[in-house]
Amino acid sequence: MPETSGITTGTGAPGDARAAATFRLSVIVPMYNEAQSADAFFEALLPVCRSVTDRFEIVCVDDGSSDGTMACLTGWAAREPAIRVLSFTRNFGKEAALTAAIDHCDGDAVVSIDADLQMRPEVIPDMVAAWREGWDVVAATRADRATDSSRRAFFSRHFYRFFNRIADTAIPPETGDFRLLDRAVIAALRTLPERNRFMKGLFAWVGFRVTTITYDHKERHAGDSKFNPWKLWNFALDGITSFSTWPLRMWSYLGFAVAGAAFLYGGFIILKTLVVGEDVPGYASLITVTLFLGGVQLISLGVLGEYIGRIMIETKHRPLYLVRERRGFDEGEAE
Ligand code: UDP
Ligand code: MG
Repeated sequence: MPETSGITTGTGAPGDARAAATFRLSVIVPMYNEAQSADAFFEALLPVCRSVTDRFEIVCVDDGSSDGTMACLTGWAAREPAIRVLSFTRNFGKEAALTAAIDHCDGDAVVSIDADLQMRPEVIPDMVAAWREGWDVVAATRADRATDSSRRAFFSRHFYRFFNRIADTAIPPETGDFRLLDRAVIAALRTLPERNRFMKGLFAWVGFRVTTITYDHKERHAGDSKFNPWKLWNFALDGITSFSTWPLRMWSYLGFAVAGAAFLYGGFIILKTLVVGEDVPGYASLITVTLFLGGVQLISLGVLGEYIGRIMIETKHRPLYLVRERRGFDEGEAE
């Protein structure tokens, strides 16, 4: 047997569950303070799920909401056996909520969707149709960024461009967390042990047969985006540090360039001194070079710090999330 350091995953013969007349669909939903959207969301989602299959579950993760989201979810779970709810002990973030849902769903096809109705449930039948044709991942790509502020659209566009240039794993731009994943992909995602979960990157990293479909990204049903610019900045740093070592390596090249320039400049100064004699003044150039190099060194230390901080978090092996309450998981299977 050859040595292998990888993990074998997959369902074996392709298309078994997807060819069957009935299959199980899981819809996974991270929710943070979505009490105002939840009713409208379920009213839109449930008929769509029923039209796709009669065997479905909706796994909702209440990510430490403080606005009555959990009370609303508990009510829905009591009325509708297909709705299952996990409630976190505090806000762990959308990536942790998605991870928890991935850990707890059991569908043959799993669709992740936001609760704010920006991603319309009506797209799900098209995703399922693509899955039944044989695709393992069906990523829904937004037609445009019209619903984002111009600042956010600008930074998102440039973030993906930069990310795809420096990371080994390319992420399709304009593709959020609205996607269908085959159970083999879910099994692969469950094997990834990292604490720092940049899900868009992980979805791309696992590979499989991927197709995209375009959808119309709507306005938020109620409330505001849970991602302010500072959260988005940190999210971008998480993504880059999880998928690229380029920010660490670039300092060696910069160091070589600066050393090369210093060597040439040194040669020039020596020649100049030999030819035209000693030149005493030089305060301006000295202070500029000193400050410049001091700045460069601090930035490079900061970049090191970003990585070391994340290494520290990984080594602690803390759980990614803590569940306070669960509804609908133990009271029999929803059929
Ligand atoms: N969300 C979450 N935890 C958080 C932030 C957001 O579970 O800490 C959920 C949120 O309830 C929504 C989804 O993630 O269902 C996307 O959030 P949002 O709509 O605010 O993001 P945007 O559409 O602005 O990117
Ligand atoms: Mg949204």
